[in-house]
Amino acid sequence: MATLIDGKRISQEIKDELKAKVEALKEQGKEICLAVIQVGNDPASTVYVGNKKKACAYIGIKSLAYELPEETKEDELLELIKKLNDDDSVHGILVQLPLPKHMDEDKVIDTISPAKDVDGFHVQSVGALSIGRPGFVSCTPAGIIQLLKRSNIEIEGKECVVIGRSNIVGKPMSMLLLRENGTVTVCHSRTKNLKEVTKRADILVAAIGKPKFIDASYVKEGATVIDVGIHRQENGKLCGDVDFESVEPIAGAITPVPGGVGPMTIAMLMNNCVEAGERA
Ligand code: NAP
Repeated sequence: MATLIDGKRISQEIKDELKAKVEALKEQGKEICLAVIQVGNDPASTVYVGNKKKACAYIGIKSLAYELPEETKEDELLELIKKLNDDDSVHGILVQLPLPKHMDEDKVIDTISPAKDVDGFHVQSVGALSIGRPGFVSCTPAGIIQLLKRSNIEIEGKECVVIGRSNIVGKPMSMLLLRENGTVTVCHSRTKNLKEVTKRADILVAAIGKPKFIDASYVKEGATVIDVGIHRQENGKLCGDVDFESVEPIAGAITPVPGGVGPMTIAMLMNNCVEAGERA
């Protein structure tokens, strides 16, 4: 039976550490502030933005909400971002994705000052990660590194296999595991003999976007299995990219869905905001 990696507990631990840090900064006269911009009213985005505001309130970070109508012009959004870039009382800027189709997401993200890019999506942040310079790191993979470290799972020298190469999960995940001295292989939809590769992994990260894709036949006995996927099943329950029932009996450690990787994303966003405030 695998050890359960408890993302709920670990994310709470991180949020409590941040809360103490924010209090100490307040005593020194510094209030951390995050600006959250939502364009349109996509229901999923509204839920995500609401959760981010709640986390800010818990930790003591001031949040500024900008709710712009769907028909907002790209130039208007860029002007708002530039205004927030120049505002010294704002430490982090987050633009909730996806944006409406008439906007160029890359252009919008690259308008955010890298010093305030708490999502870690700016081209400069991504470049800094790949050459080992300081910068903000995408929150989900940064959260996975925390899950591993705080569960005392060693990365150095380990065979790490990441399935998925998206810009927000797979690619930054592989760079972070490399930074921690793992031996990293990245798989994707064109990978041949996927099982042969994944069965070598001491640490297997599944970020595929396909429900219960990874069953026990992909996993080496005793491996650590990190499940990034989130899917709503027909019965209303959530599941991941990993078939938990099949993999859990042979894994050494495993993240559940829900309660594994999910809660870490917001905790790391809050961590990036506090870091942005400290650096400012
Ligand atoms: P994505 O952009 O759709 O990327 C999926 C990746 O999986 C792609 O690189 C794709 O390869 C690869 N892939 C697809 N089918 C494959 C197959 N049969 N064999 C091997 N590789 C395959 O997804 P994402 O944004 O990275 O997200 C992945 C999952 O994580 C989703 O379920 C998403 O909802 C979830 N997620 C969770 C959090 C969280 O906070 N927990 C955050 C972000 C995402 P190609 O590049 O060749 O197409």
